[in-house]
Amino acid sequence: MVDIFDQAAERCEADTALAIARQLAQPALGVGEQRLNPDTGEVLCFECWEEIPVERLIAVPGANLCVSCLTVLEQQRRARRV
Ligand SMILES: [Zn+2]
Repeated sequence: MVDIFDQAAERCEADTALAIARQLAQPALGVGEQRLNPDTGEVLCFECWEEIPVERLIAVPGANLCVSCLTVLEQQRRARRV
């Protein structure tokens, strides 16, 4: 005999797992595909084409925006949500 509460709990867990998977699938802001300077191999900001400092690349692997552009984008994203 299958308990209806067990079924509900299973269903709930599946939904949570799906929500987490969806969240993980969304790339973090400013991380992902990188634009490289073909001459020097340095990583360039996707917005302003400024070179991204090595310290930032170490701190945030895959970073593709400089700190100032990331700040602007975060503000825009927050403003849109309100
Ligand atoms: Zn930038």
